[in-house]
Amino acid sequence: MIRTLYGKLSAILLLFLGLMALLFVFITLFSTRLYYQETSQKLNASLAKKFVSQRTLMHDGEVDAVALEQVFYDLMEVNPEMDVYLLDNQGHILSSSVPTGRIAVYSVDMKPVIRFMEKKMFPVLGVDPTDPGMPRVFSACPIPITGPSEGYLYIVLGMPGEQPLWTSLSDSRVLRGTVMVIAAGLIFISLFALVIFRHVTLRLRRLTTTVATFQEEVPPAAGLPEAPAGRGGDEIDRLGAAFSDMAERISRQVSDIREADATRRKLVTNISHDLRTPLTSLQGYLETLAFKDDLTPEERDKYMNTALKHSDRLRRLVSDLFELSKLDSAEVEINAEPFSLSELAQDVLVKFELSAGERGVELVGSFDPDLPFVRADIGRVERVLENLVKNGIEHTPPGGGVEIDLRLGDGQVQVRVADSGSGIRPEDLPRIFEPYYRASGGRKMGGEGTGLGLAIARRIVNLHGSEISVTSETDKGSEFSFSLPVAAT
Ligand code: ADP
Repeated sequence: MIRTLYGKLSAILLLFLGLMALLFVFITLFSTRLYYQETSQKLNASLAKKFVSQRTLMHDGEVDAVALEQVFYDLMEVNPEMDVYLLDNQGHILSSSVPTGRIAVYSVDMKPVIRFMEKKMFPVLGVDPTDPGMPRVFSACPIPITGPSEGYLYIVLGMPGEQPLWTSLSDSRVLRGTVMVIAAGLIFISLFALVIFRHVTLRLRRLTTTVATFQEEVPPAAGLPEAPAGRGGDEIDRLGAAFSDMAERISRQVSDIREADATRRKLVTNISHDLRTPLTSLQGYLETLAFKDDLTPEERDKYMNTALKHSDRLRRLVSDLFELSKLDSAEVEINAEPFSLSELAQDVLVKFELSAGERGVELVGSFDPDLPFVRADIGRVERVLENLVKNGIEHTPPGGGVEIDLRLGDGQVQVRVADSGSGIRPEDLPRIFEPYYRASGGRKMGGEGTGLGLAIARRIVNLHGSEISVTSETDKGSEFSFSLPVAAT
C-alpha cells in the first residue's frame, strides 16, 4: 500500500500515462491499417474495370475461358497476391484464379460489391472466399460495364494489412518507430511530472514534519514553524501560514496555562503557609489559656490579646483571599455610580487618623477644589485608597507623611497616594502587584500585611479601565497613581 502523497500521485500518473500509451498505440495501428486499406482500394478501384473493358469475359451468360485465362495471367504479372473471381449476378463463383483447394466458400455477399460500385466511402470490405472470416478490400466491375450485367469481375486485393494489429507492429519499421516515439514522449512527460510532483509534495512533507514535531512538543524546542513569506502563495503556502498562526496561538495559550498553573501552585503553597502560621499560634495560646491554671491575670490578658491578634490576621487573610478571587472571576461586576472622590478620600484619611497619629505619621489631603464627581464603584475605590494609605503609613517612619492628591487631568480625575517612607527597591518594583509578593528590603513599621493588598488594588483599578503605576526611591518614599473617569453631567 502506497502511503505517501507523492507515491500515490506518481502511481496514478504512471497508470494514467500507461493507459494513454496503450490507447495511442492502438489508435495509431488501427488508423494506419484503415488508411492503408483506403489508399489501396482507391488506387486499385478501377483495376477490375480495366480488365473488363479490355476483354469480353462473358457473352450471353457463357464465360470466355481463354479471355479469362488471359486476365488471370495479366494480373499475376501485376501482383501475384491478388485473387480474381468471376461471379454471377447472385455472387456465386463461376471461375477463379485460385486453386480450388484454397477456396472455402463458393459465393460472395453482393452488398459490399454494390456499395463499392456506388463509390460512397472507401474502404469497403468484402468477402475473401479463401478466408471468409477475414474481410478484405477488393476491386469489382460488372460485365459488361454498361447495360444489364451478366456477372462481375471480383478482385480481392492481397494485403498484408489484414494481420492482427500486433503483427503489423512487429513487421513495420514505420509503425515501430512511431510507437517508440510515443513511448519516449510519454516517458519524458512522466519524468518531468514526477520531478514537479516531488517539488510540490516536498513542501507538504516539510509541513507534515513540522506539524508532527509540534504535536509531540508544544511549544517545540526548535522554535515555532516559520510562516512562508507573503500571503499570496498557493494553498500549501496558505496552509503553512495558517498553521504557523495557529501554532503560535496554541504555544502562547499553553505557556499562559503553564504560567497560570505555576502561579496557582505557588498561591496554594503561600495560602497554606499563611493560614497555618497564625492558626498554630492561635491554637497554642488558646491551649495555654485553657489548660494552665497558674497564669497571672496579666499573663492571661497578654495571651488573650496575642490570640486575638492572630485570629484577626486570619480573618483579614481569608477576607482578602476571598476578595481577590471574587475580583479575578469572570462574573465580577462594577457598581459604577457618580460620587465625590474628595469626600471619599477625606473619609479614608479620617479613618486612619488615629493609627497614623500613633506612629507619628502625618496624613494630608490635597484636593482640587473644583473636582467633578467620578463614576466608579464607591466601595471598591474606598478599598483601593485604604490599601494604599495603610501601606504608606506602615512603611513611613515617625515624622514622615502620607498624602492623597486628587487633580483633574486629561478629562479624568488623577489619583496620587504618596508617602515619604522607606521606598521600594528597583528590583522589587515590577513585582509588588503580584499576589503574595513582599519586598524583602522594605522596612515595615508595624503590623503584618497579607501580601494581597496591592494585587486587590490593581485588579479594582483595572476593572475601572485604568492602570495603577508606581514610582519609588529608596529612603525617599513611594508614589502610587491611577485615574478614574469623570461622571457625565
Ligand atoms: P502587604 O500586605 O505586605 O502590604 P501589599 O500587596 O499591600 O502587601 O504590598 C506588597 C509589598 O509592596 C509590601 O510587602 C511592601 O514590601 C511593598 N509596598 C507596598 N506599599 C509600599 C509603600 N508605600 N512603601 C514601601 N513599600 C511598599
